[in-house]
Amino acid sequence: MRSTVIGIFCLSLLVAGVSLSNTGASVKEIALRYFTPEEIARGKSYMGGRYLLFAARSAITLGFFLLFVFTPASRTLRDFSATWAGYRPWLALTFYAACLLLLYRFLLLPIDLYGGYFREHAYGLSTQGLDGWFKDWGKGLILQVILLLPAVNLLYVLIRRDPHRWFVAGAGIFGIMILLLTFLAPVLIDPLFHTFTPLKDADLKARVLRLAERAGIPVEQVLETDASRRTVKANAYVTGFGRTKRIVLYDTLVKRASADEVEVVLAHEIGHRMYHHIWKGVGLSVLAFFLGFVIAALVLQWGTTRGLLTHSADPAGLPLLLLTLFALSLVTLPLQNAISRGFERQADLAALELSENRDAYVKVEVDLARSNLADITPPGWAVLLLYTHPPVLERISVAEQT
Ligand SMILES: [Zn+2]
Repeated sequence: MRSTVIGIFCLSLLVAGVSLSNTGASVKEIALRYFTPEEIARGKSYMGGRYLLFAARSAITLGFFLLFVFTPASRTLRDFSATWAGYRPWLALTFYAACLLLLYRFLLLPIDLYGGYFREHAYGLSTQGLDGWFKDWGKGLILQVILLLPAVNLLYVLIRRDPHRWFVAGAGIFGIMILLLTFLAPVLIDPLFHTFTPLKDADLKARVLRLAERAGIPVEQVLETDASRRTVKANAYVTGFGRTKRIVLYDTLVKRASADEVEVVLAHEIGHRMYHHIWKGVGLSVLAFFLGFVIAALVLQWGTTRGLLTHSADPAGLPLLLLTLFALSLVTLPLQNAISRGFERQADLAALELSENRDAYVKVEVDLARSNLADITPPGWAVLLLYTHPPVLERISVAEQT
């Protein structure tokens, strides 16, 4: 159910994505067939705040980078880093990037703490203590330091070598890194945050075998994760490839849903495999990095001619590079999410086809929307901008049309 993709795909999917979300009387009537008015209001309140949090986070990010780019802040930090590092370029860049990352993460800490801890508790969704939340936050930060600082150094080696065409080698190397991360994350990164155990239920195992056979793909490794230590929300996802590929089910889902419902979820995840969504996601990410780097190379050259930085590989240009990539990711968000929703629709159709259980499909969609406090009738702009999955009523309508 989770798929993160960046890239270019069919824009027509956007239209389909919002068709059910326009809050007309008929949509409300359909909503009331499955949900109580209280459930609809509660989901709207919870998700309405999440939309605002997204806007606030994006505004802070843009403001932070703009401040660095268009005030002497970036050049001051660059000069300080160079002095501190004794004019060793790689150390100065590492120090500069670490300062930038730490400042950014601490600037976002209040909003992340409010959105990720206090608000989740206020809505009865979180089961995590404050110490656990901070532990996760700290681990995430350490992981970012370990992954991002070498990546930034590598990128700047390429920019120094060829300030005009570094994007070709950059996209190639980042492509390999994305591939490596996709392969290794399930065994190296995910276990830092969650515990995974093989699915024990013999009945469910037999169902996985049958589904894989029907789908004509190799049997997946199915793991259960201890999500209940953090949340009451239910979810499932596919991750990894080759020897690290697996389907992960939240224990919250396995405990609450019937065997038929879990089978539908498994069928949906197998649908992602049938259509090679992980590979397509990796390919689209590489393409997005290439296009992003091409534009970033032009922006760095513009920054040099404007006197914001001394040359393209000037560490003071890092906020400008990141601002460009962030702005591009925001602008292309509707496209990225349209692609993601397209993938999810394919997986939903596969779930219906493989499980041959329309009632269980509808029931699991309704149950997931309830337990995760979904916005049952989201505004069209929210779907367009933020929804990686089609809204629940659209997902249910797929079942009604088959
Ligand atoms: Zn999915």
